[in-house]
Amino acid sequence: MTIHKIIIPTPFAVGDVNAYLLKGDALTLIDVGPKTEEALVALKAGIEEVGYSLSDVEQVLLTHHHPDHSGWVYAFEQATLLGHAYNQPWLTRDVEFFKFHDEFYLQCLKEEGVPESYFRWVEKMKRPTHFIGNRPLQKFLREGDTLPGHPDFTILETLGHAQSHLSFWSEKDRVLIGGDLVLEKISSNPLIEPPLNRVLKRSKSMLQYNTSLKRIQDLPVEKIYSGHGNEVYNVHELITGRLEKQRERAFKVLDMMKEEEKTIFELTQLLFPNVYEKELGLTLSETIGQIDYLMEEGYIREQKNEKGILLYDHA
Ligand SMILES: [Zn+2]
Repeated sequence: MTIHKIIIPTPFAVGDVNAYLLKGDALTLIDVGPKTEEALVALKAGIEEVGYSLSDVEQVLLTHHHPDHSGWVYAFEQATLLGHAYNQPWLTRDVEFFKFHDEFYLQCLKEEGVPESYFRWVEKMKRPTHFIGNRPLQKFLREGDTLPGHPDFTILETLGHAQSHLSFWSEKDRVLIGGDLVLEKISSNPLIEPPLNRVLKRSKSMLQYNTSLKRIQDLPVEKIYSGHGNEVYNVHELITGRLEKQRERAFKVLDMMKEEEKTIFELTQLLFPNVYEKELGLTLSETIGQIDYLMEEGYIREQKNEKGILLYDHA
């Protein structure tokens, strides 16, 4: 098995994104960068560097649907496109789903106690879809599946950062191709995203994310090929540290509720006084994550009224 890393520029704050070319029984590309000209140039150069052309790629796999990873799906027309079912409404610009998406976030903002003057954020939540490719998945990958063309790799559903997030695990080589699950320099944001099935409740992304991290913690992983930045070698140490940090942040949030009840919005203002206005979606997601954690651990309770959800210290 050989894995060839391709570094691709993005117009986003996160910086470059990594794609991986996997040579096994099939030639497989994992992630395709954002839909920009610069990204396509980098992708092409990276593939040619190891003696192939775009048309040699037989399969394209997505680790998740976010725009820095899912752009150039139709540059590989001859390749089969595979990924988690949650990619599909994004890749096909599903009008019904997008409508539900807006309703979902509006409802979230109301419950979080966000003032009406911020409701324009509903539109902004829809990430820059024009950087995402427009071509349907031909096959859905599921937890426990073997990666077609690469029998050493198993599919792990590692939700949290995205509701479409998959990782690819080779027990034999002790290698994980992990998308944005574990990054060397930054911790991934457990974004709140609408469910595929609208009768389901919103995901508790932070709890999902912690479960995904703990799963990796239990595997004998020696190396993670990440979606951004360098490969990660000190996997277990890094994950332990990240989980501890999250717990510390949750207790900081709990402290803020000692005096009186708070809404998610009020907590977000206190936690991110300089950033919340500019990055409302991300900062609310982060606060909700800590709240879901504290609720799960039994530290807080909630009460709904016309102002939204109010959160109290349990003591
Ligand atoms: Zn990413």
